[in-house]
Amino acid sequence: MLSRPRLTIARAARVFATLWLAVMVTVAGSVNAFAQNVPVVRDAEIEALVRDYARPIFKAAGLSNDAIDIVLVNDQSFNAFVAGRRLFINTGALMEAETPNEIIGVIAHEAGHIAGGHQQKLREQLERAKTMAIIATLLGAGAIVAGATTNSRGLAGAGMGVAAGGGEMAQRSVLAYQRSEEMTADRSAITYLNATGQSGMGMLKTFGRFQSALSLSGAQVDPYRISHPMPRERIANLEVLVKQSPYVDKVDPPALQQRHDMMRIKIAAYMGGQAAAVRLMRKNPGSLASQYGLAQTTYLYGNLAAALSKTNALIKAQPKNPYFQELRGDILMKANKPKDASQAYAKAVSLDPVRSGLLLVSYGQALMAIGTPDSLEKAVVQINKGLGRDRENVAGYRYLAQANGELGKIPAADLATAEGHFYSGDYRNAKIFAMRAQQKLKRGEPGWLRAQDIINYAPPGKKK
Ligand SMILES: [Zn+2]
Repeated sequence: MLSRPRLTIARAARVFATLWLAVMVTVAGSVNAFAQNVPVVRDAEIEALVRDYARPIFKAAGLSNDAIDIVLVNDQSFNAFVAGRRLFINTGALMEAETPNEIIGVIAHEAGHIAGGHQQKLREQLERAKTMAIIATLLGAGAIVAGATTNSRGLAGAGMGVAAGGGEMAQRSVLAYQRSEEMTADRSAITYLNATGQSGMGMLKTFGRFQSALSLSGAQVDPYRISHPMPRERIANLEVLVKQSPYVDKVDPPALQQRHDMMRIKIAAYMGGQAAAVRLMRKNPGSLASQYGLAQTTYLYGNLAAALSKTNALIKAQPKNPYFQELRGDILMKANKPKDASQAYAKAVSLDPVRSGLLLVSYGQALMAIGTPDSLEKAVVQINKGLGRDRENVAGYRYLAQANGELGKIPAADLATAEGHFYSGDYRNAKIFAMRAQQKLKRGEPGWLRAQDIINYAPPGKKK
């Protein structure tokens, strides 16, 4: 039964939908209604790429650059914002951008807000927010605004709608539009782009697109456009700054552009379906990105043997690409060959420079699927390692609980279940399982102490 290879994007969306339903039942009232629909998706390749976009910019902005969490939101609209150490970005924004530079420009602008101390209260609140529930509430705010503005009262109306809907300081802050802050963030963005030798043309292109799209009625409202109005004057000022830069004509390095193209085709293949991926592949049929897309669509919608041979060809072209190995592992899992899959994932892990926790959990899942006591023990080690790098991987705790359960390690299984509930914001069930785990653990040992932390935890925003 354990044939689920890893958190592919499409699957993750379903996993989260299920989890959120469970959360709603137990903590109804304290979690925003939007939580049920928060489509956070996980993918090692895309997270690593967006982190690579952000890292130099954050460094230039003097922001801590070693612990940026990339949060991918499965939403076709355009949105991106930074809160605390999290960079939220919609898959729609990544899909829309034809070059890395367009996304890097948006990240630079957002970094400008942080470095400028804009919306500090909100950011501090998020800094403390360790649960998906808080993020969900916040992301929900974007949806509220979009709804409010279509009621034609513009920004003032939007602010009121959110105040009435949530009453949360944080939500109002997300939306607070301050013209001077936007201009300051634009100027800072150019400083960071210059410091990293990159052009501002991508930012100009993205913002210009929002400006021209404003007049379209009936079109989808992008949350980003609501929080970032683009008056003509602002775009004009930005254009001057961009064109003054010595790097105005600089284009992205070909290797980065290739990773970007591969990311877009991946999002299209997993989120948009085969037709969406084919549309993108047609633009550059012979490219490695298109070959990658073909391997993925063949895996998702076609023949596993054919997908495997296409993926092997990709590996031949880029032997050091961890995500080709990951795809190979996914295909082998689906083909019910967990032993071969585990070797592919192990290879992916060894090639991954950032050692994504997701790849480690996939490796662990393949080991679980082999099903021998020895492989189950190894699975527990790998999944624990993965969760150590990625503490909020809710699905990972489920696999850990299952592996421990199959090994007869019930207290460890209960503790993993408690962690899973904890990081999905279901503190009540987290406590129940933490207490169950404690009964069979030795007082003072690490597992017991962790269980105690969960039992003692007071959710933010609750009265003491
Ligand atoms: Zn802004």
